[in-house]
Amino acid sequence: MKVEHHIAFSAAVSGSLYAAGGSWQMAVAAFVTGFAIDCDHCGDYLVEFGVRSNWRNFFRSFYEGYYTRIYIPFHSWELLFLLGVVAYLSEWNQWVVGVLLGAVQHMIVDQFSNGAAGLGYSFLWRWFGGFEPNRSFPYRRTPFVGPRGAAVKIPVNPKMNDDVP
Ligand SMILES: [Zn+2]
Repeated sequence: MKVEHHIAFSAAVSGSLYAAGGSWQMAVAAFVTGFAIDCDHCGDYLVEFGVRSNWRNFFRSFYEGYYTRIYIPFHSWELLFLLGVVAYLSEWNQWVVGVLLGAVQHMIVDQFSNGAAGLGYSFLWRWFGGFEPNRSFPYRRTPFVGPRGAAVKIPVNPKMNDDVP
């Protein structure tokens, strides 16, 4: 799902939390976490294309499938479980609860909109599968083709040429 859609979902969820009597701290944390989780895609982009790649292609690189590995460590059901434990241990600190709810909302939306496998958002399951992207996201409209696939597509997407090693 695109960032602007995540921002819209996050605003709706955090607004609802606040309207339902949640604290402003919880609402702010849920809003920011609801879209900021996607910053882990930057790590994948760095690994795939390097620091000196053309960052203008950052968003296209995921949607058009130019990856050989997908790590995205923040997109992890295991991390949500750990966050739940931290929330409990913090006696339901409102910031922590907000982060947890924002992350849960983001993961549910991603699970149903990104063509993920049933366990595609389990970090351990991805790890055991060598972080192979098409194993984690088999139902995408555009399969992952890796940077070599990007090279094949140069005539269609000339700007991607800057990124191909
Ligand atoms: Zn995401």
